[in-house]
Amino acid sequence: MESVPDGVASKCQACDEILFVRELERNLQVCPKCGHHHRLRVAERLAITLDEGSFVEMDGDLVSGDPIGFPGYSEKLTAARSATGLNEAIVTGRGVIDGMPLIIGVADFAFMGGSMGSVFGEKIARAFERAAEEVLPIVIFSASGGARMQEGLVALMQMAKTSAAAKRAALAGVPFISVLTDPTTGGVLASYASLGDVILAEPGAVVGFAGRRVGRQELGGHLPPNFQTSEFQAEHGFIDRVVHRKDMRIVLSCLLRFFGSEPIGEDDEIRERANGR
Ligand SMILES: [Zn+2]
Repeated sequence: MESVPDGVASKCQACDEILFVRELERNLQVCPKCGHHHRLRVAERLAITLDEGSFVEMDGDLVSGDPIGFPGYSEKLTAARSATGLNEAIVTGRGVIDGMPLIIGVADFAFMGGSMGSVFGEKIARAFERAAEEVLPIVIFSASGGARMQEGLVALMQMAKTSAAAKRAALAGVPFISVLTDPTTGGVLASYASLGDVILAEPGAVVGFAGRRVGRQELGGHLPPNFQTSEFQAEHGFIDRVVHRKDMRIVLSCLLRFFGSEPIGEDDEIRERANGR
């Protein structure tokens, strides 16, 4: 969002309306005029998704090396860390929604375009492994330009690694809900993010493998206007449902219950009631 000097108002990226920052915050960063969903930072996403104070981060201290000695990568990583206050473009951990425990991952586009390098992939893989071990559902919010080019092949390998981890979690009977937010593209879309038992997306998010420019070249210049949006992908069966940000938590809660989650403690109460106590 483009802020005007005093930080009281900002301009909607989609409709150019001037909006009060406070109003936008209250509205979960969704433009009240046109409904455009502005990108969220990790902390904002966790705050509107999980029960208050329930998040416990895992693997937060993992940091990327410079596996192929890419010029300027170390400096870029340092700059991204200090600009975002994060160690990587993905944060993973445990959390609770409506009393139901889960493993959660949230990507942050502000950290090097949410790109997936070795640490991003490792954290995703470990999140799936923990979910499988503890038989907990897993929810991952993706926002990514794709594989991190500064890590070359090491980054591309994360596609196979995260996909294999997702499969192992599936074999362990763990439900995986993949939430695609703006943008989810490239190697992230082409790996674990497409493997959800349920795939949700925020309205208007860019969701596609390559960009519009490549698509236009491939298809001889003709692209539908909503090409590579979540709505287009939902119409064509790739996404199960486009969910407004204000409804996301309740939809996730319903899905967790559908997949058999129960609020902590509730199963004991039900058992006691069934036993006539
Ligand atoms: Zn707007």
